[in-house]
Amino acid sequence: MTKMEKIKNYINGEFRNPISNKYVDNYNPSNGEIYGQIPNSSSEDVELAYSSAKSAFRQWSKTTFEYRSRILIKISELLEENLERFAEAESKDNGKPLSLARKIDIPRAASNFRFFGNAITQFASESHESVGEGAINYTLRQPIGVVGCISPWNLPLYLFTWKIAPAIAAGNCVIAKPSEVTPMTAYLLGEICNEAGLPKGVLNIVHGLGTTTGQAIVSHPDIKAISFTGGTATGAHIARVAAPMFKKLSLELGGKNPNIIFADCDYEDMLETSVRSSFTNQGQICLCGSRIFVEASIYERFKKDFVEKVKQLKVGHPSETSTDIGALVSKPHLEKVAEYIEIAKQENGKILCGGSDRVTVKNFEEGYYLAPTVIEVPTDECRVNQEEIFGPVVTIMPFNTEEEVLEMANKVKYGLSTTLWTSDLKRTMRMSNQLQSGIVWVNTWMMRDLRTPFGGVKASGVGREGGFEALRFFTDAKNVCIKY
Ligand code: NAD
Repeated sequence: MTKMEKIKNYINGEFRNPISNKYVDNYNPSNGEIYGQIPNSSSEDVELAYSSAKSAFRQWSKTTFEYRSRILIKISELLEENLERFAEAESKDNGKPLSLARKIDIPRAASNFRFFGNAITQFASESHESVGEGAINYTLRQPIGVVGCISPWNLPLYLFTWKIAPAIAAGNCVIAKPSEVTPMTAYLLGEICNEAGLPKGVLNIVHGLGTTTGQAIVSHPDIKAISFTGGTATGAHIARVAAPMFKKLSLELGGKNPNIIFADCDYEDMLETSVRSSFTNQGQICLCGSRIFVEASIYERFKKDFVEKVKQLKVGHPSETSTDIGALVSKPHLEKVAEYIEIAKQENGKILCGGSDRVTVKNFEEGYYLAPTVIEVPTDECRVNQEEIFGPVVTIMPFNTEEEVLEMANKVKYGLSTTLWTSDLKRTMRMSNQLQSGIVWVNTWMMRDLRTPFGGVKASGVGREGGFEALRFFTDAKNVCIKY
């Protein structure tokens, strides 16, 4: 692709310009330059994608699990063969360190296809014998039809494929929209799908703004299910549009996750992992532990050691191997994060390291860089402790008792994930039962087994992805009762 080439929609296995010929700029966060343009697709493009998906569905929904499995696994292999190309595109588009895209984003996208390629061959439904009534019930799990998948910018291909793979494995045809902020790897995925032999129209990728393209997908009367990952406010809007049309909805939304540290933990492991759980991907992972609560007896020691380690993280150009913290995804996002650091100061938060000033990286002065920032907060009720910042910013504060920290952990509107550091088994069980979050990690962070249910409670979302949960979401259950 040349420097300023316009990317295209992928509809019916072909690359097409948007019907309206409207485009939006695509920025490179590492240097602030516009490096490409993406279609701002309208409802006409979505309609075209829908027609192609609808006609593909007739065949695809009747293919054997083995046939689908082979294609999904082939896509996975091709992604692995093209790892470097995809990792470079992801890093350039998002600002994340190239090393991270190579190690996490692209391998995980490949795993998503391999996992669901295998999972579909093991997917089974139930039967219930009505003993004494002389009847047998069996449940069919049928693909829904044409479904919509909408994903965010933080883990672009990783989350895009986490939806697409189960949707097509289950026999649906898909209209997918990546974030307009990071469209590049989704664009490249089309080529891979053609090479893997995915029939035309099974996957259609339309690019554009949420308010135009996303809205057209969500409000399309015949797209029967929407799997969405993104912000809570967008999720609420989508629910308002989709609910009166009785669409099936899976919403994976924002988080403000607690990282709870008891004095009896494995200190070194906790310290090293807490640096990662705070700042990996510039803190732009919905699972990052952005509220750190530390038992009072080790608070001062932790504060000193943690800040010392965070100061060693190198902010730099994403392609440098020494870079720990790359660029934030966009200028507006950089400004939002910096504003929260200013709010923290007004709320009597103490900036222990980092700050709201843009970091200058030599030769890339216009890039969107911020230093990892640790804020000591006087109360858990301040805005920086309650609102999702989604950047390289964490708060820390001490606690005295299990009850106190449990209350603070649960006293936010979100409930996505929690990390708990302790070696006390009974406490682990007590707290895990009471924490209001969809995922609890004990003495680890972001350890993912793709069979497990993934999702949040409260304002972090509705529904679960992962394993058979995803295959259940992308199928409708139909019970057949036969009297004999
Ligand atoms: P966003 O809500 O702004 O956008 C997400 C996607 O929705 C994009 O593709 C966007 O174009 C689209 N969109 C926006 N408005 C739309 C509309 N009216 N109709 C249909 N689609 C629309 O979120 P973002 O800024 O891209 O991502 C950051 C957010 O995502 C954070 O809140 C983060 O916590 C959340 N997130 C959650 C998870 C999870 O698994 N729970 C994972 C990653 C990110």
